[in-house]
Amino acid sequence: MLARHQQATESATRAVRALLDVLLPPRCAICGGEVDCQGLLCADCFRQTGFISEPFCARCGVPFGSAALGGVERLCPTCRAELPVFGRARAALRYDAQGRRLVLPLKHADRTELTAVLVPQMARAGAELLGEADVIVPVPLHRWRLFHRRYNQAALLAKALGRIAKRQCVVDALRRIRATASLGEKSATERAAEVAQAFDVRPSRERMIQQRKVLLIDDVMTSGATANACAGALLAAGATSVDVLVAARVPDPRLN
Ligand SMILES: [Zn+2]
Ligand SMILES: [Zn+2]
Repeated sequence: MLARHQQATESATRAVRALLDVLLPPRCAICGGEVDCQGLLCADCFRQTGFISEPFCARCGVPFGSAALGGVERLCPTCRAELPVFGRARAALRYDAQGRRLVLPLKHADRTELTAVLVPQMARAGAELLGEADVIVPVPLHRWRLFHRRYNQAALLAKALGRIAKRQCVVDALRRIRATASLGEKSATERAAEVAQAFDVRPSRERMIQQRKVLLIDDVMTSGATANACAGALLAAGATSVDVLVAARVPDPRLN
């Protein structure tokens, strides 16, 4: 009797799922083509996406066209000239034309379901960093930007990664203590100057950061100026180390 009831429930569940698939067939997050399962890319879009794997800079994670570009130290020219404040940075994919199609709608079009595509790839690229981290912290948005955008995309990614890796996520550990101009068209030096002293750790969150290995999360890394400024604030508050994991990384054209 019970078995028959269970069977009936299961076939009803299957029927509902089949009906939902007809009404809302799972779609590729980039091109909208049909896929097998929600949160996947179609085969064509997957092939065109520049997922980052070795070789890359051992420190900042910028991808290399060939391993020889890093030399014996496996460092990019930027890190060789001046080591970043953070320990290691890793990124899931290149922020090229295809990468922008995955990340920009998350930023500007409320396409929060894109986290289902980005987060597993971030967990892959940052497996070592996630494994070593004690606590996960997102880069904060400025208050007026949060108001316009209604959510912080870095916090969405950080929370999802915290769930996967079973790590505490302190969403509001960092705060912007002064507004920064948009970094869009600025050079690396201008970016660094613009974001220096722009962040601090909220006094009420200091205890959650002190003597802990922090993994900082952002959607896009360009020059690394924002990551450096946040890492500086976290280290000043007593963090043992700060690594960085981002969804997408702007490639260095010298290293392709
Ligand atoms: Zn597609
Ligand atoms: Zn580097």
